Amino acid sequence: RDKAEYMTSLFRSVLGFPKEGINFRDFMPVLEDAKGLQILLEGLEKALPVPADSFDSVAGLEARGFLFGPALAARLGKGFIAVRKAGKLPPPVIGEDYTLEYGQARVEVESDAVSSGERVLIVDDLIATGGTAKAATDLIRKCGGTIAGFSFVMQLEGLDGIDSLGPYPTSTLVSMP
Ligand code: IMP
Repeated sequence: RDKAEYMTSLFRSVLGFPKEGINFRDFMPVLEDAKGLQILLEGLEKALPVPADSFDSVAGLEARGFLFGPALAARLGKGFIAVRKAGKLPPPVIGEDYTLEYGQARVEVESDAVSSGERVLIVDDLIATGGTAKAATDLIRKCGGTIAGFSFVMQLEGLDGIDSLGPYPTSTLVSMP
């Protein structure tokens, strides 16, 4: 509990970024703090939504899922799958289009990143509406993988992000308004 409070105290909130009306939760001070980073990784590992032997790999979402997804995967002895924004990975890739509040976006993985039947844990820093995590889910399933569950560091309250993902085991370390 003390550890969770310590980590929570490190998050910085920035009103009006990246645009008016948004209260941006900044994770960088947690990563910059040696103890904060340990607590974050330990927390994700302890709060896994399913036992570690029930998934094969960890997928992280660009960009902040790349900051601790590979570290979590290494702690668990798993590989890491990079789910990137369109146009960043060399071909061949598999992609999934999704709708944002304003306009369209696309996520991609390298086409041999997920094998058939591979059980994947999806990690990201924060879930708000769930749109990003849902796109990653659809993409991994399109590749023939199955979703073992989701690990988020933070959940924004008052949005139905987790419900929108479907009936998957999910863990979050911190909930904020
Ligand atoms: P969603 O798709 O609405 O669930 O938004 C989640 C995505 O937006 C995640 O990939 C987050 O990294 C990013 N995001 C949204 N709000 C914040 C924030 O306040 N801080 C950091 N990332 C955010």
